[in-house]
Amino acid sequence: MSDINKDVHKHDLLGGRLCLDFANTVSWHDSSEKSQEWLTSYENLVNWSLHADILKKQQALSLLKKAENRPSEAKKVLQQAVELRESIYHIFSLVSNDDTPNAKDLAILNTAIGNAYGKMQVVPDENKFSLEFLNCEELDGMLPPIVQSAIEILTSEKELSRVKKCEGYPCGWLFFDTSRNRSRRWCSMADCGNRAKAKRFYHNKNNNS
Ligand SMILES: [Zn+2]
Repeated sequence: MSDINKDVHKHDLLGGRLCLDFANTVSWHDSSEKSQEWLTSYENLVNWSLHADILKKQQALSLLKKAENRPSEAKKVLQQAVELRESIYHIFSLVSNDDTPNAKDLAILNTAIGNAYGKMQVVPDENKFSLEFLNCEELDGMLPPIVQSAIEILTSEKELSRVKKCEGYPCGWLFFDTSRNRSRRWCSMADCGNRAKAKRFYHNKNNNS
């Protein structure tokens, strides 16, 4: 029986927003040769969703069990998730560079928004109302919160202006820059930041010798 896969838990969530972390489920996302897909199975999608706190452990286990009995539906959800992930990645990559997203990617996101809104409801929450996602037990129950996260950023100029792409080419990871003067350049200082520093050191050393 499928179980919680520990591997996916090793991956850092550096995006700072759920939809950006989802967009980062490919290593070296900006490279056609080097890129490495993480969502290679429905199990990985569920495990990542657990890792990203979209699903609780019990929900994840229940989805994995259901997927065993409905493999073709699970496969379809995986394809749908990857397609949505790529559209989110392309949209935010272009926006981070002050370019306009293409119509095809927006159409994919808009279809997902239609599906997601059908699974949301507002419920009383202390002094206001909050959005609750229904049907978490459906195989695609992890997608609406991701879509919601994308909508939140896209519809706010302030939020949108903080979306950036890592300068460590071909990393391509997206992140939400919360630094006061918006000076963050890399997905992670420990990874791409250090690589850039080492490269600079190497060049300086060679130029000086
Ligand atoms: Zn990076």
